[in-house]
Amino acid sequence: MSEFDFDLFVIGAGSGGVRAGRMAAAMGVRVAVAEERHLGGTCVNVGCVPKKLFVYASHYADDFEEARGFGWLPGEAHFDWPTLRDNKTREIERLNGIYRNLLVNSGCTLIDGRATLVDPHTVAVGDKTYSAERILVAVGGWPYVPEFPGSEHVISSNEAFYLDQFPERVLVVGGGYIAVEFAGIFAGLGAQTSLIYRGELFLRGFDNEVREFTAEEVRKKGVDLRFGTNIEKIEKLADGSLQAYLTDGTVLDADCIMYATGRVPKVTGLGLEQLGVELRDNGAVVVNDQFQTSVPSVYAIGDVTDRVQLTPVALAEGMALVRNLYGNQSQKVDYELIPTAVFCQPNIGTVGLTEEQARERYAAVDIYKSSFRALKHTLSGSSEKTFMKMIVDRDSDRVLGVHMVGPEAGEIIQGIAVALKAGATKAVFDATIGIHPTAAEEFVTMREPASS
Ligand code: NDP
Repeated sequence: MSEFDFDLFVIGAGSGGVRAGRMAAAMGVRVAVAEERHLGGTCVNVGCVPKKLFVYASHYADDFEEARGFGWLPGEAHFDWPTLRDNKTREIERLNGIYRNLLVNSGCTLIDGRATLVDPHTVAVGDKTYSAERILVAVGGWPYVPEFPGSEHVISSNEAFYLDQFPERVLVVGGGYIAVEFAGIFAGLGAQTSLIYRGELFLRGFDNEVREFTAEEVRKKGVDLRFGTNIEKIEKLADGSLQAYLTDGTVLDADCIMYATGRVPKVTGLGLEQLGVELRDNGAVVVNDQFQTSVPSVYAIGDVTDRVQLTPVALAEGMALVRNLYGNQSQKVDYELIPTAVFCQPNIGTVGLTEEQARERYAAVDIYKSSFRALKHTLSGSSEKTFMKMIVDRDSDRVLGVHMVGPEAGEIIQGIAVALKAGATKAVFDATIGIHPTAAEEFVTMREPASS
């Protein structure tokens, strides 16, 4: 009989925590999972899932317009925010229920409430304490909003999912995934939208041509892109609207200002510092390649470690941890070639190195590119364009990076990522027969390098 109440106590029922808890319980491990908010964490409640539903919603305005070229003459369509918001919330509540069942049916003990660490083997939830041989911190992250005069008037993505009223004029601040995705959502749903980014061009870290191409397409969708500026102060007017004073001297009126200026590990008040768990300056829990913190019985996975803030990465980390601890394996998560998508309009899909990274690391690279108006838009009337780019190491012929801006880029790049993971060379792409007519076939018909 173990001296502990549980073998594994998971704090946080987000993507990583739920996967680790379920897998461990299925292997006969005695698991508790504590969650203070909604089951499923950021991804299910205020992240990937509701965001993607909103992205679908935001595309209909274009779809209705484009349908005309195909002979469909729809009547006057109008958008009803409460319908979208509440349908989305119902779906999220359904998913919360599914997560609850998954955990309970796999044998986990689910504990509702905020957990804090008391000592290396004890967790407190409310007035109860539980002992555990191992504790897994999987509490995720939380939006970061800088403090400045009037910052109390802004919202983050958390609130954007539940707005009482749909705003007519929106300012989105930031130049990362969330800012670009939400600017597309607000604009597509009919708001007059500006995106304010402090740097020269948004999406820092992505391939430069992808960034430039995306900026052009996003502008075409009606988003007012303002780069090289930032909000200095916000004033709330008597009618409840907001006025933003920008560093470049402009003043913008808005009904809603959303900050998407990064996310920070949600460690405040968890008790990690008192235990001596090493944290980075931004609160991220430091772990080794086995997800073990500086306190050997305490582990951490997912956004709280601030390595790669993506659901599939948290899942991979949770599974590797459980296999290693309880399945007698010694897996390491491979962080190379992680594909991602930005669900702006059109989407960005990317895997591997950018041209800039490849040129730094390799002696000679060949760049293949294609930019075109998709077949659909010959009748739709849309001026939207698609961009594709492939980066190849000339010496080995290995494909180092593939990038796409266009409809369903995420879906297409997922398949390409398998090829890159398998070490595909350009010759393998060339030997692959295309599927016609698709946009994706461009990736197997890029014959001549655009630059070397
Ligand atoms: P990111 O870290 O991607 O971007 C933050 C942005 O905010 C950057 O453009 C940054 O500018 C800017 N910024 C930071 N601090 C300030 C400040 N004080 N004033 C003005 N601007 C500031 O964060 P996000 O919030 O967009 O997303 C968080 C994470 O969530 C991402 O890293 C991603 O991993 C994940 N995510 C993934 C999605 C997907 O896979 N589709 C969707 C949404 C989120 P600068 O570039 O100058 O530093």
